[in-house]
Amino acid sequence: MTSEIVENQVQDTAQLIAQTVRDFAARQIRPFVRDWDESQHFPLETMRQLGELGLLGVLVPEEYGGSGLGYREYVGAIVELAKVDGAIGLSMAAHNSLCTNHILTFGNPGQKNKYLPKLATGEWIGAWGLTEPNTGSDAGNMKTVAVRDGDDWVLNGSKNFITHGKSGHVAVVIARTGAPNTAHNATAFVVERDTAGFSGGKKEDKLGMRASETAEMLFQDCRIPDSQRLGEVGDGFVQSLKILDGGRISIAALSLGIAMGAYEHALKYAQERQQFGQPIARFQAIAFKLADLATTIEAAKLLTYQAADLKDAGKPVTKESAMAKLYASEVAVKTADEAVQIFGGYGYIKDFPVEKFYRDAKLCTIGEGTSEIQRVVISRLLLP
Ligand SMILES: Cc1cc2nc3c(=O)[nH]c(=O)nc-3n(C[C@H](O)[C@H](O)[C@H](O)COP(=O)(O)OP(=O)(O)OC[C@H]3O[C@@H](n4cnc5c(N)ncnc54)[C@H](O)[C@@H]3O)c2cc1C
Repeated sequence: MTSEIVENQVQDTAQLIAQTVRDFAARQIRPFVRDWDESQHFPLETMRQLGELGLLGVLVPEEYGGSGLGYREYVGAIVELAKVDGAIGLSMAAHNSLCTNHILTFGNPGQKNKYLPKLATGEWIGAWGLTEPNTGSDAGNMKTVAVRDGDDWVLNGSKNFITHGKSGHVAVVIARTGAPNTAHNATAFVVERDTAGFSGGKKEDKLGMRASETAEMLFQDCRIPDSQRLGEVGDGFVQSLKILDGGRISIAALSLGIAMGAYEHALKYAQERQQFGQPIARFQAIAFKLADLATTIEAAKLLTYQAADLKDAGKPVTKESAMAKLYASEVAVKTADEAVQIFGGYGYIKDFPVEKFYRDAKLCTIGEGTSEIQRVVISRLLLP
């Protein structure tokens, strides 16, 4: 097959998946967005339906029950979800690119056989714990420890701000196994929900992304067998950085979807809302805002798909995924801000959709590395 035919097939598959997600979101998510947001309901049943559609194992090969697709299709699916509800997009992103992808990338065949089919089908929801109360950006300095005891490891400590920290059936947990402030001092483990000594803690009451559960994970003398270790002792932090390279593409996609959703509402409203006897879109001040938003969204799209394509080609993507995440997340915040402005007073009211985009967008400049940390990552690669 020529590369052109392969590329066309990839485009067709990506479009088909995007259409499927669009239809699903219109039927199964849009009617409930406001309720879930207000009550902070994490819709486990909707996650299961995403699993049935193959959206919880997008990158997982078919032999493990996944969809066996690439980042281009994955990005398209998250964009479509996030146009309707960023919170569901965030949950899909965390499940796929953090927990599931960590096991896929660094698990041994036994671990992959045990966990990937359950995660890819949505039978189990996954969590990924790196962040701790005192170590977010400085994650390499984590306090949660895993101590070797015969054939087991004993975990003590806590992780916070973890997506699906309470409801996740299984978590990849990164814990310190070496001396503080030394290189290669962390190791990754898979911990199942019903393991003694592992519990969910406080569920956070958030500004946005409220239907995506964010909670603490607590470990108190939590004993797990060495067979639950992912990869080599000491490789946990380096593994996490590699996982975040892919994860940031999903946050770029999430940002892009939020920006597109907010923009589409603003574009429509600007043509409907009449002031001074004409649609507000006729005022140059509003038309130019729309022009600027459309232009920056297009640039965010190009950066995001560039990172996705590099990842699919197996090329290094650290700089490009950080650039895509940095830029797209800031475009999402700016777009949602301007969408509220275009809606005027109605933008500030919960009966209209844009105030939620405004609240949801802000997470994108924080999760999986803040904008400041993306600039650290990018500048380090520019200035070796
Ligand atoms: C809704 C939500 C979901 C999340 N899901 C997960 C998850 O599933 N798993 C997980 O492990 N984590 C998760 N997180 C945690 C998230 O990744 C962290 O919040 C993020 O990395 C920032 O860490 P912090 O909150 O401790 O902020 P801090 O690191 O304390 O940063 C505070 C401020 O200081 C700045 N700063 C810090 N260091 C530097 C520096 N070197 N240079 C310049 N500025 C700096 C930051 O940019 C920021 O502006 C989630 C967070 C949220 C809010």
